[in-house]
Amino acid sequence: MHDDRQLTEGRLTRFIDDVLPGALYRRRKPLQVQAWHVPGEPVPVSKALAAEYRAVEVPFPWGAPWSTSWFRVRGSVPPEWFEDGRLPAGTRLEVAVDLGFYGDRPGFQAEGLAFLPDGSLVKGIAPRSAYVPWPEGRRDHEFFIEAAANPDVAGEYTFRPTPLGDRETAGAEPLYTVRQIDLGLLDTTVWELAQDIWTLRGLMAELPIEGSRRWQILRALERMIDVVDPDDVAGTAARGREELAGALSSPAAASAHRVVAVGHAHIDTAWLWPLRETIRKCARTFASAVALMDEYPEYRFACSSAQQLFWIKRDYPALFQRIREKVATGQFVPVGGMWVEPDMNMPGGESMARQLVLGKRFFLEEFGVDSQEAWVPDTFGYSAAIPQILREAGMRWFMTQKISWNQTNEMPHTSFLWEGIDGSQVFTHFPSADTYISELSGAELAHAERNFKEKGTAGSSLVPFGWGDGGGGPTREMLAAASRLRSLDGSPTVEIDSPEAFFERAEAEYGEPPVWVGELYLELHRGSLTSQHRTKQGNRRNENLLLEAELWAATAAVRAGASYPYREIEAAWQTVLLHQFHDILPGTSIAWVHQEVEEANADVERTLERIIAAALAALSGPGERELVANARSFPDAGVLPLGVGEPAPAGGELDVRETEAGFVLSNSHIVVGVDQLGHITSLRDTTSGREAIPAGESGNVLMLHRDTPNLWDAWDVDVHYRRAARPIDGIESIAAGREPDAVTLTIRRRFGTSSISQVLRLERGAGSLAIENTIDWKEKHKLLKLVFPIDVHADRFAAETQFGHVFRPTHVNTSWDAARFEVSAHRWIHVAEPGYGVAIANESTYGHDVTRHTVDGRRTVVAVGLSLLRSPEFPDPGADQGEHVIRFAVRPGAGIRDAVREGTALNLPRRRVRGGHPVAPVISVSHPGVSVSSVKLAEDGGGDVVVRVYESEGARAEVTVTADFDAGTPRLVDLLERDSGRETVAFGPGRITLSLGPFQLATVRIPRL
Ligand SMILES: [Zn+2]
Repeated sequence: MHDDRQLTEGRLTRFIDDVLPGALYRRRKPLQVQAWHVPGEPVPVSKALAAEYRAVEVPFPWGAPWSTSWFRVRGSVPPEWFEDGRLPAGTRLEVAVDLGFYGDRPGFQAEGLAFLPDGSLVKGIAPRSAYVPWPEGRRDHEFFIEAAANPDVAGEYTFRPTPLGDRETAGAEPLYTVRQIDLGLLDTTVWELAQDIWTLRGLMAELPIEGSRRWQILRALERMIDVVDPDDVAGTAARGREELAGALSSPAAASAHRVVAVGHAHIDTAWLWPLRETIRKCARTFASAVALMDEYPEYRFACSSAQQLFWIKRDYPALFQRIREKVATGQFVPVGGMWVEPDMNMPGGESMARQLVLGKRFFLEEFGVDSQEAWVPDTFGYSAAIPQILREAGMRWFMTQKISWNQTNEMPHTSFLWEGIDGSQVFTHFPSADTYISELSGAELAHAERNFKEKGTAGSSLVPFGWGDGGGGPTREMLAAASRLRSLDGSPTVEIDSPEAFFERAEAEYGEPPVWVGELYLELHRGSLTSQHRTKQGNRRNENLLLEAELWAATAAVRAGASYPYREIEAAWQTVLLHQFHDILPGTSIAWVHQEVEEANADVERTLERIIAAALAALSGPGERELVANARSFPDAGVLPLGVGEPAPAGGELDVRETEAGFVLSNSHIVVGVDQLGHITSLRDTTSGREAIPAGESGNVLMLHRDTPNLWDAWDVDVHYRRAARPIDGIESIAAGREPDAVTLTIRRRFGTSSISQVLRLERGAGSLAIENTIDWKEKHKLLKLVFPIDVHADRFAAETQFGHVFRPTHVNTSWDAARFEVSAHRWIHVAEPGYGVAIANESTYGHDVTRHTVDGRRTVVAVGLSLLRSPEFPDPGADQGEHVIRFAVRPGAGIRDAVREGTALNLPRRRVRGGHPVAPVISVSHPGVSVSSVKLAEDGGGDVVVRVYESEGARAEVTVTADFDAGTPRLVDLLERDSGRETVAFGPGRITLSLGPFQLATVRIPRL
């Protein structure tokens, strides 16, 4: 037989493009449209329904960037559309809407939401789902469309600066033209035929040309084209479907890969749109989801963020009620159990815990659902602390697909056990389709099978389907595809089910999964550890203030009978957790988002400071004694941990003097030599007497790097940043200063149009040198690093993460090591060789690099680089411009415990208060290696005291937690403060002894009598 494959495939393309689209609607008729353009920000539906509308003629322009217009649509079905008083068989009525869509990408352009005149929601309107159903049996109908003129900030992803991300600069010209709002008579047979063709064609393209199945499908499609008459598609579509029936009913092979398809809409909680738009995106997407559930009973939709459902409950209560009903039927599936899908590198340990506490509590209280699976498809890497945190929240499974974005190395597993810093494991799955926005195409399903790395041992993968990022979710076309793919020869089988059902199956079919130990590092988006410093600093500051607010408010409740500000503290947590979303904390949102976040963070800061001040005033009473409120887990100036007391005066010498070479700052613990350029040439602790700075090198060197990532501007630092760098060593002034209990050296520098003032500060009795950088930053596409070479021989370094630390290599032996050239650290980095180490603590910095170099070819030293600021131009062209204050502390002669303490001290600076008397701690913890993460009252409002501790040094600790109040017997609980069933060494009234393993986390609930 002659080979006409390409000819026939070309004929099919032409048929699909030219014949089918025009035949979908048998008849069309424009409807009457009136418009009301909202002045300013969006309004509630009640206000929009009552507005004054004016008649408009389609087509008409509308929509300045970020504006909202409402359209009132009215009309009746023409009598001639009826046959014997009914619509023709195989048809249904709907309204086809074109708001001026360009391309077919939902969520990144104009979007609509249809409402009935009573204010109830119908569904979202976007490309690929641009229809509104016409109620069955109705001749006349009226509805409203809330149309959002969201601009396409991303454009073609050129990552060039755009004014669209800020209302101030986005412009006022209409972006869109309404092209069509027509009543249409949909031919359901033609529509079904189109779905048959789409699935078969997609499958065919993936099949081997040498195989029979591909040709069987090709011939069926060819026969279909033969019988469908372009001049009478409606009359011949059914015959066309008959020709395809055989190819569609040929069942899947017994060995076929099994896909569990989960409906989903990844909705970025803020990104290229502001938070307020996300609320509407959720309303559109969820309204569409519940509407489709009525039509497709098998449909399951997984929804991951409590915050998004919280908004729906507040702003769209009727929709929330429908969602509740669909949760009860099992169709709407709350997953993930977190407040948002957060960044998982940068949030502190307590924040990660609260993501789960607030998220799971919302799902439990609103829906009675206790999510078992973490659902973070799009987050930029996952710290090695996550498995334990998930297990402590009662979670069993973990899902992401983001690691498929790795630039260098491919992860060896699809399904595996992921092991964290403490040894906790969670069963983890990377959807092998490598997407969370599948449309169940032949190409995606074939990729899911090809890319599945457990073949022969396991056979199931999860495929999230539905438009995402900007919302949209599954379409009726995707559900039609799923039904055709249940068992289809040549394709993986597709079954719609819940994530839970998938994980149950995947875990059961995989007896001994492989184990991956340590972080899931994303080999991309490393700049997100540094971009938008103010957003990150606000996060860190409020995390620390929350710890203090809860501690002092709980102490005041116990000691002084003060009322505990549950609601204010919860609201503060909600804001902090929201801002940890995976495009906010990473600094990858538009200007509008980061401006709002900075304002909201400042509000939270004020609230927390007020709570702290009120609690401390209630505790220490009136008076003028100078006291210190110590929220740290170790003594501060002699004041007990978690207590308020009179500080002991610091002792010892203190000096700053000018020498020929520069300056020397010293106290009884350390001696710092600084040259005329303001660089640290010598750093010694008096205990070891050892020099921390390698001979001939200098620390405290500011390096300005060219920072021009190939793609993702705010997201990426590409490794080539290292190749173009210069030290900022020009100096404007350098001057020593003296205070009663500190000596300082102030160094002012200018470069370009920016300036930096550095204050090196050595306090009496301190073991570390503090460095405060005040930077007026006006650079573009530059990365500013502060570099410290350290004279230690070290293969690895420690970086703090949630509830512990991780070690990473200083060398680049393997491609995996080399790819980790910019990494996350929380409050400290520690480099050491046996017997000696140096800690560098930070107050608001996450991005670090630690490298090593050889001296004289005989020995190695280590260089720590701290990433202070970047200046990307997309999506926020003004990112990071302006003033920043960034603090560090360097401690020579430091062990891990010192590093933990330096990091804590810098983040919980000494809090001085005036009051009448000291306050004894309500809780004491017996082991110096055990840190207190939280002291608070129980989430349930019952008044129990909850204490969370963790072993912070990677060692073992037998620790006793003691309550200094009338207490019942403490219990070990999970993060949600439910009995954990874990064993304790001993307990009695107000006292519990725990045996903690390395980095083990424990939450203790202490009843108050
Ligand atoms: Zn995302």
